[in-house]
Parts: sequence; C-alpha cells; structure tokens
Amino acid sequence: MSEELTCEELRAQLDAYLDCEECDDLAALVEAGTLNGPDARMRRLLEAHARQCPHCATVVDAERHMRRALRRCYSHQAPEGLRASIMELTVSRSRRAVRTRVTRIDITEER
Ligand SMILES: [Zn+2]
Repeated sequence: MSEELTCEELRAQLDAYLDCEECDDLAALVEAGTLNGPDARMRRLLEAHARQCPHCATVVDAERHMRRALRRCYSHQAPEGLRASIMELTVSRSRRAVRTRVTRIDITEER
C-alpha cells in the first residue's frame, strides 16, 4: 500500500479520524479491532496528508472548529449509564457491519 493518501481518502475517513483524535476510548477500540476506523498507522498518514495539502488542511481545520463550537453549545456531560449504553450500541453496530460485509462476498466459478 502506498504511503501517501489522496484527498479523497482523507475525506472518506475524516470523521472517523477526528473521532479517534478526540476520544482515546474510541481509538483504543479501533486499535483492538473492535470498531472499524483508521488505525494508528492510517491516522499518521491522514495527519501527514493534511499537513502537506493546503486544501485538506483547511477542511480538517474547519471540521475541528465546528466540533469545538458544537461542544461549547452542548457541554453537559451525559450520565455514565447513557454513555455506557451508547458505547455498547456503537460496538454492536460496528460488529454487525463487519458481519454484513463478510456475508456479501460472492463466490463465482472460474471457466
Ligand atoms: Zn488533500
């Protein structure tokens, strides 16, 4: 695999990349293979692309800004029980997504 990403690859993974950047728990679940998302190596490649591509740097910066602004609007911490339920739901949905992808592999006969 190439060590350089395209702008499209960065855009496709932007949300997951910033989610991991903002949440160590989420990054740990991705690293453990429990959740889908960019692993540490991919996150470094995304960061490197954003550093050397002015267009993507602007997009990443704008998204970080937006997230900060939203956090200021909704700064109340969810109760621990709700947080735990959301994490559990996220993990089970991700596992279902992985299973769905695996069942879509078609086997065709070679002629
Ligand atoms: Zn770019």
